Order: sequence, then structure tokens, then C-alpha cells
Amino acid sequence: MSLNEVRVRFAPSPTGPLHMGGVRTALYNYLFAKKHKGTFIIRIEDTDQTRFVQGAQDYILESLKWCGISPDEGPGIGGKYGPYIQSERKSSYRIFAEKLIENDHAYYAFDTSEELDRMRSEAKKMGMPNWQYNGVSRMNLRNSLTLPKSEVDRLLEEGAPYVIRMKMPRNEEVRFEDNIRGWVVVNTNNLDDKVLFKSDGMPTYHLANIVDDHAMKISHVIRGEEWLPSAPLHVLLYDAFGWPRPEFAHLPLLLKPDGNGKLSKRDGDRLGFPVFPIDWITAEGELYSGYREKGYFPDAFINMLAFLGWNPGTAQEIFSLEEFVEAFTLDRVSKAGAKFDPEKTKWFQQQYIRNKDDAALAKLISNSTDSKVSEENLQTICALMKERATFPLDILKDGSYLFESPKSYDEKMISKKWKSNTTEIMEDWRGVLLDINSFDADTLESSFKDFLNSNELGFGAVLLPFRILVTGVGSGPGMFDISSFLGKEEVLARIEKGLQHVAKSQHEA
Ligand code: GLU
Repeated sequence: MSLNEVRVRFAPSPTGPLHMGGVRTALYNYLFAKKHKGTFIIRIEDTDQTRFVQGAQDYILESLKWCGISPDEGPGIGGKYGPYIQSERKSSYRIFAEKLIENDHAYYAFDTSEELDRMRSEAKKMGMPNWQYNGVSRMNLRNSLTLPKSEVDRLLEEGAPYVIRMKMPRNEEVRFEDNIRGWVVVNTNNLDDKVLFKSDGMPTYHLANIVDDHAMKISHVIRGEEWLPSAPLHVLLYDAFGWPRPEFAHLPLLLKPDGNGKLSKRDGDRLGFPVFPIDWITAEGELYSGYREKGYFPDAFINMLAFLGWNPGTAQEIFSLEEFVEAFTLDRVSKAGAKFDPEKTKWFQQQYIRNKDDAALAKLISNSTDSKVSEENLQTICALMKERATFPLDILKDGSYLFESPKSYDEKMISKKWKSNTTEIMEDWRGVLLDINSFDADTLESSFKDFLNSNELGFGAVLLPFRILVTGVGSGPGMFDISSFLGKEEVLARIEKGLQHVAKSQHEA
């Protein structure tokens, strides 16, 4: 791989929100650029005005920002090769389309859409369902290859609508080496005469993409597998212009967790996980949920995403962005589609929340809620709860007993665990606690053990009822840590309150 100056681009079309597959493409481009001390560019490909969606561009840029994938050049950032939005480069494309006509690589086509529809349906009747405008059919159509020059000039002068089409060569082999897939060989007889330019002055994706990749000195085109069928045309366009080809790398698809299909925007809400980085609300008010709003950390999201289609070849699973930059190579990107696994995604998030600094976590929670818990207490609550949490707000929800006395009790657990002598044991244990002066976890634990020994009681028979009385629930962080955090007075009060509750519910039963 020639790596003189690496310049890569992520080139989304603002046709809707950015799917997580798109974020992965941006991420791999970013990692590749940083690994090779190169430049990562964002270019907005908005030449197809019919598919333009309001807000999509801002959404894309905001999503990448949230993920920490920051471009070196792009809209709002600038750079030597701007503008980075294709509609703002509109005037630069016509000359290239005309150059292709001059060199006999393209031609004007005047066929109306009705004429083309007629051709298509006639072909269908004759048993050819996939009619194409190509090297054979073009000779029976209205274009600058079949019409006399005077007629072509007249039509152009009159302002008749036209398109400029690629004059696909006949029976040639197009070959290029993809960095992920190896050699790709396609015969041009299988390719059609794609539209490159329209008389409204707009290039199509294919022409604009090649002209801009060349103008922006792109060294490597790293993009989704769905663009692989377009790559032979792109290669031919580079050759037709006499420009050096960039390297190509087509990334594997992201697949549904169930079945083999492509992960689609509908899958997320169908299977209960986000498919988008951040929330997207359509013009009709429909919500597609995002990882950010669900409470995922951007670094956990990125970590999960990097592993969809790439692996480091070691057992390491947790990587910072810097570590990914170090480890990333295209030759470890797989050809096969990568199955998205929502459970693994959650697992990554759990690893990140566990490794988060308590103070940072506490700050995050206090910034996103109007919780009255002090910052200091919140830190301890985070330290106690983060092992069991997936999202920051779980800590407040599942650990509510750390800042308020339980409002309800796990009744099922009570009826299962409460034996005839349990209340008496709890009263005795409360008596022991009453006499403890230093209410730290170690002292509590050793007193607890002494209590069990002297009464010949089993651990579970005492600890679980104690937990239910103090927290209302049957599981959580260590009871001695919880008790020490709550303090003696609170623990004693809760045991008393809990026992009253048990007595009442047993009486009612
Ligand atoms: N605009 C294309 C897209 O939306 C870019 C394809 C490419 O990277 O060449 O994905």
C-alpha cells in the first residue's frame, strides 16, 4: 500500500439520519487517517436534491461530534480544498462532464423518461426484465451517438432537456485491487451507461464523487460494501480523466441480529435497541431512538462499533480511541458481513460505566437530573452501584434506597425468606447494631459474623432479611458498605420500619 500522504473522506448524503453503519465508515476512515498521520475529511454529497432531507446534515455533524470523530477538513471547519458541500461546488462539475464528451467517454442523451419507460416495458414483454441503457441499446436511442451532429446542436441550443451518460466501453475487463476484498474484476458488458450529469447543471453522485475525490487529493476511498458495484465505473472515470486512481476498501455490511439481512433503520425499534447514534425525529414526528439519549457513553458506542467488522487479532476488547488508532489496519477488516449484537453492545457500556471515575459519573448524573443528592454522596452511590449498572441513570433508579428509605418492599422475597423466627433474629441483630460505635464496613462485617456464630445461624438466613429491611430489595452492593454509608441511625430506623411493614403484611395475609 502506498502511503505517501493519506487523505481520506467520509462523504455522507444528507438524505436522512446517519445509521450506525455510516458512523462505522466514518470511524474507520478516521482511524486510518490518524494511524498514518493523514487527514480526515468530511464532504457532504448533496447533489441529489430530490432526496435532500432538512436537518440531516446537522444531524450527521452532531453525531460525529458526539462520537469524538473530529474531521481535519469539512463544513464549518474549512480547509484548503473547500467548499466541502457539493451543492456549493456546483459550478465546478460541468467542465469535467464536457471533457468526457470531448474525449469520447461520454455523450448527450435526449430520451425522455416516457421514451425510456416504453423501451423498458417492451423489453420486459420480450422476456428481458432488466433492460439497461448500455453499449447495445444506446444505438437505438436518441443521443449524440445516433443523432446527426446538427440535430444535437439544435437540441442543445433549444434547451431541450438532456443528460450526459458514460459511454461504457464494450467487452473490457475492469480490474482493481480492493484493500479488503482483493482483486475485483468486472466485464464492462455487465455495466450500464450511467448518468453523470443533468441539464439542470447538477452532476450525479458518480461524477461529483470522482471529481471531488481527485480535487481533494483523496488517497484511499474507504466506504460501505453497497458502493462496490459502483467502483468499476469509478475506476473507469479516473482512467478516462487520466487521473491516478485512489486505493479502495469496501467495508462489510452490518447485519441484523436475527437473520442475515442488512441492519435497517426499522430493526432498532422492532428489536428494542437504537440503530442511530443520536435521536432523530422525522418531519412527521416519528422518533428513531439514538444511543446518546439511551444513556450510552460515546466511547462505549465507538468501542462496540469498531468491533463490527474488524478485530485486533488479540483478546483485548476495551480500546480507547488512541488505542484504536494504534491498532487499526485495513487488513484486519473482514469481508463477511458483521452481525450486530445488542447484548454485546450493552456489555461494552457496562465495562465503561464500571471503569468510569466516580466523580465524573456523579457529575454526569447531577448534570442530567434534578436530583437533590449531594455531589459527595452521589460519588459514593456511584462507587457502590456502578458494578451493577448499565446506564448512569440506573444508578439513581436502582440505588434509590441509598438516599431515601424504601417506599416498597419485595413482597415475594419476604414471603419466601421470612421463617417463623426471622423477625426475632432481625430484632436481635438490631440490638447488636445498636451497640456498635464505629459503623464502618469492617466492624459491621465482623460483628455480623460473631452474631451468626454465637446464634448458630447461616449467612443467607440473616443477611437477606437484613437487606430487604434496609433496601426493600433482594440484591445490591455489599450490605456492610451500604450500612456504613447510610449510618447507624438510618439503618436502625429502617430495620424498625421494615419490621413493622412485615408484621402488617403478615397480619393481612
Ligand atoms: N454519498 C455516498 C454515500 O452517501 C458516498 C459513497 C462514497 O463514499 O463514495 O454513502
